[in-house]
Amino acid sequence: MRSLLKPGVKMMAVVKANAYGHGALPCTQALLEAGADTLGVGIVAEGIELREQGIRAPIHVLVGVLPDEVDDLIQNDLTTTLYSRSLAKMLSQRASQLGKEVGVHLKVDTGMGRLGVPPDDITGLVEYLQGFKNIRIESIFTHFSSADDEDPAFTQNQIERFQSALDQLKKAKFNIPLAHCANSAALLQFPESQFDLVRPGIALYGALPTQGLATVVESLTLKNKNFSLLPVMQWKTKILTINSLPKGTPVSYGKKFVTQRNSLIATLPVGYADGLERILTNKMQVLVRGHKVSQVGTICMDMCMVDVTDIDGVQEGDEVVLFGRQGQETIEVDAMAALAETISYEILCGVGRRVPRVYIP
Ligand SMILES: *Cc1c(COP(=O)(O)O)cnc(C)c1O
Repeated sequence: MRSLLKPGVKMMAVVKANAYGHGALPCTQALLEAGADTLGVGIVAEGIELREQGIRAPIHVLVGVLPDEVDDLIQNDLTTTLYSRSLAKMLSQRASQLGKEVGVHLKVDTGMGRLGVPPDDITGLVEYLQGFKNIRIESIFTHFSSADDEDPAFTQNQIERFQSALDQLKKAKFNIPLAHCANSAALLQFPESQFDLVRPGIALYGALPTQGLATVVESLTLKNKNFSLLPVMQWKTKILTINSLPKGTPVSYGKKFVTQRNSLIATLPVGYADGLERILTNKMQVLVRGHKVSQVGTICMDMCMVDVTDIDGVQEGDEVVLFGRQGQETIEVDAMAALAETISYEILCGVGRRVPRVYIP
């Protein structure tokens, strides 16, 4: 990913939500080794977890803080997004009580309607902050709502609005160290959005922001020998048991599948409690012995069934790939996401806690 950056541009690796389900600590360590400059987490608790595990790199809490999290933020040397004067006041009060400084990243809302002050209010906010000596302004940033769109117009407009906030600050002679806005989709599609730092998440894990960006990634890969997106996560299980079910036998809750032939139905020890969403029932495929086979019958909490009638030599204990590679076949997380009517992010974050993460160096 670094090979996409212009000289001098820094990278904040976004490791929120347990590193998009991949495991916060191992991914953070790998990303820092690979040249990430800073880290982005969602909430204070995620930042504390990394600090307690020895991570010293700067950590920005992207979502911001609730009043009862402010002390933990300050004591763990985390920095927060700042989007209101009331938060500034509270941060400053708590920091003085604790005898510390607190670092903040000013958020400008350029079209997301979620967090931040309007571009025209930014100099007002910075002026207000001059009154608080223990608040250290580290950056100014914004977030794109539609950088994965085919139509660039809205993102270009957000970039312009962000630039106007920067211009206003410059005119008022306020010097803020860093400006940033690019998420993965913007980094892939809008080189002009790099400013001083970029904040990719999903692409670091080798997944696409949306399927629509597949061709963009292909052409970047052709142009830049150092760049490619390789999926970091594969999701695997094993066959728990295999049943011979005669033609006409219903399978699982609600009899949503009935065998159309004498069948071999394998039961897998994975279900919706592991993040295998029920909406995938009778839709998804998995890999067994290098072949795609269909999932059949309602996905249960802890189990689901697949039809292995056509798989020669299939045995209990065989590896099953839910997404990832097996032999010559691949199932992309994006394909599962499409069937579940969602995006890869939700599938990856949704892989349950009880699914062991195994790291292969
Ligand atoms: C999650 C997040 C990102 C990363 O987004 P991706 O689409 O995963 O690259 C960047 N910035 C902010 C503020 C975020 O919340």
